[in-house]
Amino acid sequence: MTRAFTIKDVRVYTMAASAKAGTYFKPGVSNHWLVDSLIANPMSGYPKYREKRSSWGIGVLGALVVEIETEDGVVGVATGSGGAPAAWMIRHHFARFLVGQDARNLNMIWDQLYRSSLPYGRKGLPIMAISAVDLALWDLVGKVRGEPVYNLIGGLSRDEITFYCTGPSAAAVKAMGFWGAKVPLPCSHFDGEAGLRANVAFLTAERDSVGPDFPLMVDCYMSLTVPYAIRLAEACKPLNIYWWEEVLSPDDPEGYRQIKQAHPTLKWTTGEHEYSRYGFRTLIEDRTLDIVQPDVMWVGGLTELLKIAAHAAAYDLPVVPHGSGPYSYQFIASQTGAAFCEYVAASPDGRTIQPVFGDLFVGEQLPQNGKLKLSDAPGFGMTLADRGMLVAVD
Ligand SMILES: [Mg+2]
Repeated sequence: MTRAFTIKDVRVYTMAASAKAGTYFKPGVSNHWLVDSLIANPMSGYPKYREKRSSWGIGVLGALVVEIETEDGVVGVATGSGGAPAAWMIRHHFARFLVGQDARNLNMIWDQLYRSSLPYGRKGLPIMAISAVDLALWDLVGKVRGEPVYNLIGGLSRDEITFYCTGPSAAAVKAMGFWGAKVPLPCSHFDGEAGLRANVAFLTAERDSVGPDFPLMVDCYMSLTVPYAIRLAEACKPLNIYWWEEVLSPDDPEGYRQIKQAHPTLKWTTGEHEYSRYGFRTLIEDRTLDIVQPDVMWVGGLTELLKIAAHAAAYDLPVVPHGSGPYSYQFIASQTGAAFCEYVAASPDGRTIQPVFGDLFVGEQLPQNGKLKLSDAPGFGMTLADRGMLVAVD
């Protein structure tokens, strides 16, 4: 073990209230399409919480930032989800497995974090916390070696990656130069027949706004049931929907079997709210999905994403991570599978390109005209812009 890779310190932060930075859902942000527009969601059945996802606290946890420093003073940094509770876990539980350890021992560190949190973990917050630590470690190893992360995980499989964009308006996405648009479904099964008609009308208008051939996808954010999804997909067959995403709760993986049986020629995707390679085992082996979409900032970090990708590769099943900015771009650039990434429109109206992580980093690369060539900056290519945005967690 050399000093160059020996971990000396682990620091964890939440975001200051004034910071215009974080992940998808930033606490206190209002008038943003992601949280304040009508989007079908698991709380759609409650009138009080139906209109805006901010109303039931979608962003309540906020973001965190992890810094891991070596004996030589090199710092790896990553942001993640889970806010103060995840930050507390890292500080008071996971740090013991990091300080004094060689940062290159990513597999063993991951395994220790996972196994030591099994009594309270496996999914959700603890795996989000592990994800942030893991990404900070990859960033650190890249920065010590002076190499971008993609060179640590197999090198480049393509010079350029292409993007589809998730936003409130397919026409705006097309105008920004993306190859396809994913729009959120407005109504759920709780809205009954009128909601079904409203969904078809909304998607018809979105289809008309981009013409018949532009790929149009629909994000259903865990909001539907099996019978409703089958009916909705049937009603929308003339609209040539390119894929239907996350129609069911992640607790109903077998529901996707019934949906695929009903509509075998349509594409079905899910995975952003599933955790670890164990969570993806059934999703991959069932062969009922057309793309799996782990979120590298939630699923267990890059170490776990690579294991999921290896499993999926044996089934020729594309892995296209959910959101996650450069953490996903580095993965996609290195893989021989799907050559495209998601960009979640980060601007309040979803009509312009803004950094996924707001003002948090210097160096976050952005798609231009729906494309991106990754730089060779070390690690994930990002450094903190302003430490004034951070609140240390003790
Ligand atoms: Mg989604």
